Amino acid sequence: MTILNFDVIIIGGGLAGLTSAINLAKAKSKVLLIEKHTYPKHKVCGEYVSNEVLPYLESLGFNPFEFGAKMISNFELTTHNNKSISANLPLGGFGMSRYEMDFQLYKLALKNGVEVFSDTVSNVNFEGDMFHVETKLNRILNSKIVIGAFGKRSNLDIKFQRKFITKKAPYLGVKIHVSGDFPEDKVALHNFKGGYCGVSKVENDCINLCYITDFEAFKKYKDIDTFQNEVLFNNSALKALFKNSKPEFEKPLTISQISFETKNPVENHIIMCGDTAGMIHPLCGNGMGMAIRSAQLASHLIIDYLQGKIKTRETLESEYVKHWKKTFNLRLKVGHTIAYLFRQDWLAPKLLRLLSWFPFLIPQIIKMTHGKPMTVK
Ligand SMILES: Cc1cc2nc3c(=O)[nH]c(=O)nc-3n(C[C@H](O)[C@H](O)[C@H](O)COP(=O)(O)OP(=O)(O)OC[C@H]3O[C@@H](n4cnc5c(N)ncnc54)[C@H](O)[C@@H]3O)c2cc1C
Repeated sequence: MTILNFDVIIIGGGLAGLTSAINLAKAKSKVLLIEKHTYPKHKVCGEYVSNEVLPYLESLGFNPFEFGAKMISNFELTTHNNKSISANLPLGGFGMSRYEMDFQLYKLALKNGVEVFSDTVSNVNFEGDMFHVETKLNRILNSKIVIGAFGKRSNLDIKFQRKFITKKAPYLGVKIHVSGDFPEDKVALHNFKGGYCGVSKVENDCINLCYITDFEAFKKYKDIDTFQNEVLFNNSALKALFKNSKPEFEKPLTISQISFETKNPVENHIIMCGDTAGMIHPLCGNGMGMAIRSAQLASHLIIDYLQGKIKTRETLESEYVKHWKKTFNLRLKVGHTIAYLFRQDWLAPKLLRLLSWFPFLIPQIIKMTHGKPMTVK
């Protein structure tokens, strides 16, 4: 059996994996990216991307607006009892489907010389200062560095016995694309009892409807349609959106077992990026921004390590953990606190009323869960 050697092996080809692969390949590293699915593929995601990542994406050679992404600058929040609050987004963002965005970044990765295998990583061993990566198709691959970008929950989390995997993961995510009327420049968060639904436009004039709810609350209903009819549609904005639009998917996509437990940014010497290192509540609309920013952070340090500017693996790992925490700890805390407060049935309507009286607070809260536009080295 042939053993292949790389500078960096990246496990998982979502936004964290793809952007780090492009960044590292541009710096002349020999990069392999392993993704278990083939491109293009739909993912459960609100598909609103914060503009904080635009300068970095452009520096990698990716301009989302070339592929029809929608520029978004307005925000609307509706409450369970149908009160509406509007605000301008401090930095704004863009709407683009993961189907298109991941696919275009994948093509850009190939163009930059990244090798991509469609395979599932089954194990990673670290021995003699090298990684040995095993896959379902029985490949044996070696590298100096492994980046873990395998998302919020993977077979590898179980294999590595990561602590968070034993904790409760009580949320369910549902997404559908529809065609209908919705302003291009707006992202809306429509609240319902036990969850909220994000709405924004993506390329091809589709509207993304993506909601997250407590699985226990959902379980009481017999199926998605009944849940939507009896829970979501108490919010009249949601009812109008679902009723006056045409589904573009045969049936909605769902994911369960979503958790926001704390994770470690480095485990078994693997540098974790994106949701693999920690997941912010989707309510903040910034998970993709964090995935891309952590990929930049990891790539820059790994390039310094491979070029001998960072002398030891220990320093590489401790620098990454230090920078990761400095960049993300505050926004994760704020995000979790906001989500926790909005989950309290007795408190959420009061908080929403407060925001309707003082709407200028909304951009301030959003700022705390987002970073400044990324600087490009
Ligand atoms: C309901 C919901 C709504 C959201 N809405 C938004 C939003 O509007 N805006 C926002 O910014 N964020 C949002 N997020 C968060 C956002 O989707 C994530 O933060 C983002 O996708 C993280 O990217 P990633 O690259 O870390 O992981 P992913 O995009 O999940 O990529 C991980 C990849 O790893 C692959 N993989 C897993 N295991 C293996 C293996 N063993 N071998 C090979 N490949 C493997 C998977 O197939 C996958 O493609 C939302 C999340 C949810 C759940």
